Amino acid sequence: MTVETVNPATGEVEYTLELMDAAAVESILAASASAFPAWAARPLEERGDLLRKTGAQLRMRRDDIQKTMTAEMGKLRKEALAEVGKCADACDYYADNAARYLQDQPIATDGSNSYVRFEPIGCVLAVMPWNFPIWQVFRFLAPALMAGNVAVLKHASNVPRCADLIAEVLRDAGVPAGVFAVVHIDNDQAAEVLRDKRIAAVTLTGSERAGRSIAANAGDQLKKCVMELGGSDAFVVLEDADIEKTVAGAVASRFGNVGQTCIAAKRFIVVDAIADVFVQRFTEAASKLRLGDPNDEATTLAPMARQDLRDELHKQVQASIAKGAKPLLGCEPDASHAGYPASILDQVAPGMAAYDEELFGPVASILRVRDEAEAIRVANDTSFGLGGSVWTGDSERGNRVARQLQCGAAFVNSVVKSDVRLPFGGSKRSGFGRELAEHGIHEFMNIKSVYVA
Ligand code: NAP
Repeated sequence: MTVETVNPATGEVEYTLELMDAAAVESILAASASAFPAWAARPLEERGDLLRKTGAQLRMRRDDIQKTMTAEMGKLRKEALAEVGKCADACDYYADNAARYLQDQPIATDGSNSYVRFEPIGCVLAVMPWNFPIWQVFRFLAPALMAGNVAVLKHASNVPRCADLIAEVLRDAGVPAGVFAVVHIDNDQAAEVLRDKRIAAVTLTGSERAGRSIAANAGDQLKKCVMELGGSDAFVVLEDADIEKTVAGAVASRFGNVGQTCIAAKRFIVVDAIADVFVQRFTEAASKLRLGDPNDEATTLAPMARQDLRDELHKQVQASIAKGAKPLLGCEPDASHAGYPASILDQVAPGMAAYDEELFGPVASILRVRDEAEAIRVANDTSFGLGGSVWTGDSERGNRVARQLQCGAAFVNSVVKSDVRLPFGGSKRSGFGRELAEHGIHEFMNIKSVYVA
């Protein structure tokens, strides 16, 4: 089968690719299985050196990688360059810290020697999305390789060149053949691969729909899985918030990456006492974002990654307006191929798509509430549980509210961000399992107890 990728800024076909057949996939799985024992046995310092070299390759090829990301999924040039840098830093971080995370942990028991040991489990299948086409992969890959696992990547079908570039970077860094490979396959073939005995586990970053399907298959095969799914993060604005900082955070969090971020602020829950001023300043600031060519330094809002995603988002906006949401800004598709302007919906309420569903694009939902207690209740009134932020002049108060948010990451007076030092992942229907930090490296390891009487 042939797959075409379309440049979201121009609407032109960017790249045509033939999906792999069963024989090609078989040879990748065989190479991966045969690479695993030697990679797992390799001293940790050597794996660390190769990871540092991978980081260096990423930095060296950052312009190439940026151009490919921008052409395939429309990312702004400066956001793409920052993403590549973040991946290189993650490689260095795990090279520096894995020995500490993976050392045996002595446990006091009645035996003469007992301890916990961390062992790699084999080949991990990674099914990844297009929104951070390099970072999502390295977020999983850097700890997986340091752990001694090998990996096979099935990337989103609109970013095949990004996937190939990642493979080239690892190869050029000297990572042995078979330790990491890309399979260009469709979702049915991915389900077959997951059933293969040589695949030990699977990690998915993507939508709830993909999560249900992959987690069901993993369950059927009794294979470990990590699910990094969607979110509808609350951005809670209390009456004592610093308005300048809060508006700057709101714009960055909702409109960065054109809103196509799992941990973007999506529901702005604002107490009445500050609501009018916040909404007015937020609308003013968002109206200054300029949609355009993502390679142009003057552009501050890129096109969305695909036209169908833009159209889907607009349907959610229209459905919300039909139920009483008030459009304050944007809310009409741009004439360009996949562009959607910065948009704000006020008076969002339960029963509307903008309240109940994830809006994966540049549309902010405003939910007005009486006070802090109602803000917390509304923040938690969602099936998602990825991140959330609280904005207040009193950091103690912020901390108290943050502790009551039902999510995997709660930030105070800061936008929610992924930081390699902090575990990352969701609760409720945003998924399960953790990436990054010490927790992330242990996800795909056999945590083994050894007891000597
Ligand atoms: P998606 O459509 O679920 O795609 C993600 C990956 O899953 C792609 O490789 C896709 O392949 C594959 N896939 C899709 N449907 C599948 C199915 N039924 N069975 C098996 N694989 C399937 O998601 P997306 O549109 O790329 O990404 C947006 C979603 O990801 C949002 O909900 C966002 O919040 C979430 N996300 C979560 C995180 C997190 O860390 N929690 C991070 C980023 C994004 P094809 O492209 O070939 O269909």
